[in-house]
Amino acid sequence: MKNPIFSIVAPVYNELESIAELYPRIRDVMDSTGESWELILVDDGSQDGSTDVIRKLAINDARVRPVIFARNFGHQIAVTAGLDYSRGAAVVVIDSDLQDPPEVILDLIAKWREGYEVVYAKRVEREGESWFKKTTASLFYRIICRITDVQIPLDTGDFRLLDRKVVNIMSKMREGHRFLRGMSAWVGFKQVGVEYKRATRFAGETKYPFKKMLKLALNAVTGFSYFPLQLATYLGFISAGLSVISIPIVVILRLISSPQLTGQATTLITVLFFGGIQLISLGIIGEYIGRIYDEVKGRPIYIVSEGPSEDHDPTRLNLSTKESQEKS
Ligand code: UDP
Ligand code: MG
Repeated sequence: MKNPIFSIVAPVYNELESIAELYPRIRDVMDSTGESWELILVDDGSQDGSTDVIRKLAINDARVRPVIFARNFGHQIAVTAGLDYSRGAAVVVIDSDLQDPPEVILDLIAKWREGYEVVYAKRVEREGESWFKKTTASLFYRIICRITDVQIPLDTGDFRLLDRKVVNIMSKMREGHRFLRGMSAWVGFKQVGVEYKRATRFAGETKYPFKKMLKLALNAVTGFSYFPLQLATYLGFISAGLSVISIPIVVILRLISSPQLTGQATTLITVLFFGGIQLISLGIIGEYIGRIYDEVKGRPIYIVSEGPSEDHDPTRLNLSTKESQEKS
């Protein structure tokens, strides 16, 4: 089969009700472009029966290509697998809970036709999300923007269109702790934003509890910045400077024999304070070392138990086999 013009990648994790609605919405939008397309549904270890729905959709429409994971690997990894399997000249990443309206894909495509290689969708409004989610998200984007070296656009999610060139480069970046928004900003090329209104979830609950959000934030920070590591240096200089300044002050106070600076409490507080700072610094270093360890192990970043029908090798594990395919 010839490669399609457009690939749509949607990660699915327990989205039983939503995907049944997602497929017709995407089909209608994509058919209206008059171009060939494929929809890659990556099942990220769903346990609610979404897997069977995906299989059925694929049987009824050959343009739907299922990629079924052996277990839950997380949203960013699921999208990565979708990008690896995609064949289109332009690839659109979209959530499967219909928070990203499929109709916006047409706006993304219009910009791509103008010659942009990364077209990201920018949320101007978020409907039906808790203030906690909105505040933490907004804060997160602003902190990331401050401390990282890449210009990651504010208030954008993973809903975006990537040109084949960009997808090919990103599929060579095999870090296990992934922050795709950062990675797609990092590659450069011509990038532009399209504004949209983020809708409420079609059904079900968010699959991004606080723990997963925190993990994503840590991936973003450690993946794109050394700032936390440098923090220990800054704090060290500040506290050393303060103690140097305090030496003459203590001497003078002693000479004019004002009440002496004694007492267990002061000593204890100081020891605890610096003990705390040292432990935090160690923890930060540990965070980076853990990531180095994960990279060194070089494990495949996902395991596919069931690929699209034309993919006869169920053990196909991303790069290693891809490389050998390219070589042969
Ligand atoms: N998702 C996934 N694996 C996960 C968590 C989420 O594939 O471990 C998918 C989920 O099915 C959805 C998308 O990622 O299509 C975004 O997740 P969600 O809507 O829960 O995040 P939110 O919109 O609340 O930030
Ligand atoms: Mg969502």
